[in-house]
Amino acid sequence: MTLIERFAPSPNGALHLGHAFSCLTAFDAARAGAGLFLLRIEDLDPGRSREAFVEGIEADLAWLGVTWPRPVMRQSRRGPVYRSALTKLALRGLLFACTCTRRDIAEAQAAPQEGVAGIVGPDGAPYPGTCRDGGADRSLPHALRLDMRRAVAWLGGPAAVRALTLEEIGEGPKGQTGSRRLDPDWLVEVCGDVVLSRKDAAAAYHLAVVVDDAAQLVSHVTRGEDLYEAAALHRLLQALLELPVPVWRHHRLIRDEDGRRLAKRDRDAGLAELRAAGETPASIRDRLGLPPSAA
Ligand code: GLU
Ligand code: ZN
Repeated sequence: MTLIERFAPSPNGALHLGHAFSCLTAFDAARAGAGLFLLRIEDLDPGRSREAFVEGIEADLAWLGVTWPRPVMRQSRRGPVYRSALTKLALRGLLFACTCTRRDIAEAQAAPQEGVAGIVGPDGAPYPGTCRDGGADRSLPHALRLDMRRAVAWLGGPAAVRALTLEEIGEGPKGQTGSRRLDPDWLVEVCGDVVLSRKDAAAAYHLAVVVDDAAQLVSHVTRGEDLYEAAALHRLLQALLELPVPVWRHHRLIRDEDGRRLAKRDRDAGLAELRAAGETPASIRDRLGLPPSAA
């Protein structure tokens, strides 16, 4: 198996130290294993993606000494590919249209469904099920959601889902590592009917990431531990779409002095600012506890 790593930023802000850690971890792993490192621009969200951020991302990565082949995959150009994946799921009866607004969902969640309040899955709080039985008017703008119960049934039921495994070579937020099984109860009750295509975009992150990692033959998914739980959903989507299954390398998040995870608004951790303040690629690696560049 060829080792293929990737870094997949969303161009809705400038890169900071956390992105540098993720990208350099993937890049170094590809180098160490004589593999390939790919950049993918996750500009799915037309409202938030900016061309200036794409340019800034490429400039920051080049400065860090990262190299990647061109052309770079751009999610904004892959609508037809996402639509064909959605069609595959729709033909199996696994999708339903949903016209709910955020507010509709919040109100339904506030209603008496006991035990549900406070549960947060990879797509936020689980969907309350309002449109699941085909109630949505498809002539209105709508999202497409995965019917999680049907998805589990389509794969052969809970026991068949439990037989699906994921390989973690990094660490989850609680230090979890190694092989783990999918949990059908978690999928139905915590994950719920996740959005796979949005009202305002050709696909949602969870669908696009799985389709694109497969299209780019990514063998190792290196990214922050905040997406550790989401990997189980991604493994399920790979099974439903009959896609190859990578291994995952989740890593710790880089935090500020107060222990908060970095956000795009933390200017003092921005790579462009650090560079302007006289930091070098070597000093960035040192700050992040990464070994000096082999190049
Ligand atoms: N675009 C996503 C992000 O920036 C990528 C997540 C992933 O690597 O799967 O968070
Ligand atoms: Zn709905």
